[in-house]
Amino acid sequence: MSYILGNAVITDGYSTLMKNGALEISDRKIAKIGKTEQVKKKGVKFYDLKGRLVLPGLLNGHHHLYSALATGLAPIGPTENFQQILENLWWHLDQSLDIETCYYSALSGLLQSIQFGVTTVFDHHASMNVISQSLNSLKIAFLETNLKGLLCYEISDRMGKEAVKEQLEENIRFYEEHKGNSQIQGLMGLHANFTLSNESMSLIAQQKPSDMPIHIHCGEDKADFDFCVAHGKAGPVDRLHAFGLLDRNSLLAHCIHLSEKDYDLITSVKPVVISNPESNANNNVGMMNTDRIHDYVLGTDGMTGNILGTLRSLFLLRNGKIENPLDILFRRPANVIQRFFPQAGTLKERFDADIAVTDYVPVTPISLDNLFYHLIFGVQGQKMYMTIANGTILWEKGEFKTLNEGKIRQEVHEAVHKLYTVYHE
Ligand SMILES: [Zn+2]
Repeated sequence: MSYILGNAVITDGYSTLMKNGALEISDRKIAKIGKTEQVKKKGVKFYDLKGRLVLPGLLNGHHHLYSALATGLAPIGPTENFQQILENLWWHLDQSLDIETCYYSALSGLLQSIQFGVTTVFDHHASMNVISQSLNSLKIAFLETNLKGLLCYEISDRMGKEAVKEQLEENIRFYEEHKGNSQIQGLMGLHANFTLSNESMSLIAQQKPSDMPIHIHCGEDKADFDFCVAHGKAGPVDRLHAFGLLDRNSLLAHCIHLSEKDYDLITSVKPVVISNPESNANNNVGMMNTDRIHDYVLGTDGMTGNILGTLRSLFLLRNGKIENPLDILFRRPANVIQRFFPQAGTLKERFDADIAVTDYVPVTPISLDNLFYHLIFGVQGQKMYMTIANGTILWEKGEFKTLNEGKIRQEVHEAVHKLYTVYHE
């Protein structure tokens, strides 16, 4: 099946921007990119985008799909500090999930991601009373929606030693079963340094396949930093490094409370740093130091599925000052996605057709030099006009095209009832 998206402003976000451009999509790939009159041809369905701005499908570098059904859920106790936010909301929620509510949380979160043009999600999963096979329930939601994902289960000491072993096994099982998969792969999920004893860290280091990257909350709150110092390390990155867990493909979320040695390790090893500005503001944990960390991608940390909205928040939180915003949103994500899915992450011929068509028609001059401002003030983090993953049009003009939204919403509604009943017991 082939079709053409034409009469559009097409950009990969960092190296090219073409006006009156078109994309031919064929057999799940981008077959051709060029001027509309060159690409348009008889017999192939043509979508006239009427001047809309077309972007690569976006990356959410750190998500918690398990939290997608928590909107408006009241914590069970005070949330005055970071530890209380975890204990009285997130940890209580993840202990209330079963295999079915894991699936519906993931599906709900992915539906929202699609609406905002996100086609790749790096998820960090927790469901402490259902560990084994839990990642498969998320995988089903990814397969149904067509999105790409890196999945992991967050290992934490909070449920005891036996649970740590089961969490470790779930990560390794999923990783081994999905090596080289073109849509879903596994990582080693760690909650954070401060919830992992030296004994647990050693066990993870011993059992982790050497080429399996980690995904961890790193220096999110000062408590994480203090824990590492109390355990004889310079900080959270240094502790990961000391256990042999840090490498170029490590996903480090937050990176706010770090030591000089931690920054030096990030500079030399170059792991993937994911900043989550809306979550950090919400939890009042501080902001990542962008004078020390220049190369990063954005995540939502479970707050929303909206990455362009997150970029806009970052812009406002930093009083209009972000260095190299197009690198953060496009160049670096393309590079990171291609480590796992070599033919994805950008708009190029023969690459996977993962595409976000904004519902924005630029009426003022647009170029790579001012694209960022068109995104912040024009697109504004609104829902997309069209979202395409692996060549399939998932979302168009406010409707899901491959999923029965009404039926899903009804099932989700029932899952929410079950989840909230357990949560409040
Ligand atoms: Zn997180």
